[in-house]
Amino acid sequence: MSVRPVRIYGDPVLRERAREVTSVDDTLRQLVADMRETMAAYGGVGLAANQVGVAQRLLVVDVPVEEHARARHALINPVVRRRAGSVSGEEGCLSVPGLWEDVTRAERLVVTGLDEEGREVELDVEGYLARAIQHEMDHLDGVLFVDRLSPLKRQFLRRSLDALARGELPEGHRPPAERTGPGGQL
Ligand code: ZN
Repeated sequence: MSVRPVRIYGDPVLRERAREVTSVDDTLRQLVADMRETMAAYGGVGLAANQVGVAQRLLVVDVPVEEHARARHALINPVVRRRAGSVSGEEGCLSVPGLWEDVTRAERLVVTGLDEEGREVELDVEGYLARAIQHEMDHLDGVLFVDRLSPLKRQFLRRSLDALARGELPEGHRPPAERTGPGGQL
């Protein structure tokens, strides 16, 4: 397993619509393992394959759901079957470091896909897990959370985003090995 570098805002792969996975094989399982390791190393709770430079429809999440429980899933070719409600909440993204903004998402959803063994899975999720899956599914369509903000808000963030696109990481941004603190980005 290995930690892969997370692609940052401005990298064209983050704007690609990822392709369907056609074969759940050992190569894909290696990618899943690397994505989990990368997510953990960066202190993230979700990661889409685009974020490590692979435009395939695959995401992983590792979200605390109760005090001592976490929801850990790999979802291949995910499809939303039902969505309900609407809720605003704060999000950060490993590919857009330094920015945390409120985003409105469905409150609850049913999503289907395959796990890394190729088995069909159906998840009925709510709360932050539902938010994380929607955020990662956006990545698979080349959409970033900042795209979902109001035009005014985006204009306000323009300089920060342009700086990221030029390769200037925000003050205090550390490589994964030096990170401490809660993390929680997607
Ligand atoms: Zn993200």
